[in-house]
Amino acid sequence: MTEPRLTVVEHPLVQHKLSYLREKDPPTVHFRKLAEEITLLLTYEATKDMPTEGVEIETPLEAMTAQRISGKKVAVCPVLRAGMGMLDGVLSLVSSARVGFIGMYRDEETLEAVQYFVKLPVDLAERDAIILDPMLATGHSSCAAIDVVKEAGAQTVTLVCIVAAPEGIAEVHEHHPDVHIVCAAVDRGLNEKGYIVPGLGDAGDRLYGTK
Ligand code: URA
Repeated sequence: MTEPRLTVVEHPLVQHKLSYLREKDPPTVHFRKLAEEITLLLTYEATKDMPTEGVEIETPLEAMTAQRISGKKVAVCPVLRAGMGMLDGVLSLVSSARVGFIGMYRDEETLEAVQYFVKLPVDLAERDAIILDPMLATGHSSCAAIDVVKEAGAQTVTLVCIVAAPEGIAEVHEHHPDVHIVCAAVDRGLNEKGYIVPGLGDAGDRLYGTK
């Protein structure tokens, strides 16, 4: 039985940027940039156990054994639409990753995830999947996205989110104890509408200026 893994990245740069992201005033352009930068820093943590192997190289001065990432390649799967705001942050570090898209929306009455679109790399079984979902609230959409990538063959799944609620973490770990959750903060909980508090509001609306 795997021990559920949760990594809260407390690096000062992450916490500093998150404090601005949470504020209600920043315009869309700043919000987008901050979300991308935070995701880049979270990706650094999320990938820190990637295996490496020694390869022989030659520097201008002499031969040496250097370390390169070995093992499986990465498929990064944003949950539409807010997860798209995190995609470039991952791709700027893992530029060779394939990208899969998982379209989900939240039924505002039941708070259940409704899937409307899925397009994944065909070789997902040979890749480590990184799911991007900025707000881990009830956990329903993240769990549904994890189901989708596992059904498509993914063996290892990491869920990268920006803000998580304890309820969402518990839900993901109950259904998928093997999934490593990496986030920038664990907030107090959910309000009656299923929003994370104190949170940062509706991540999709704030990323794309739709409200
Ligand atoms: N989705 C969001 O965008 N924000 C929340 O607080 C919860 C779900």
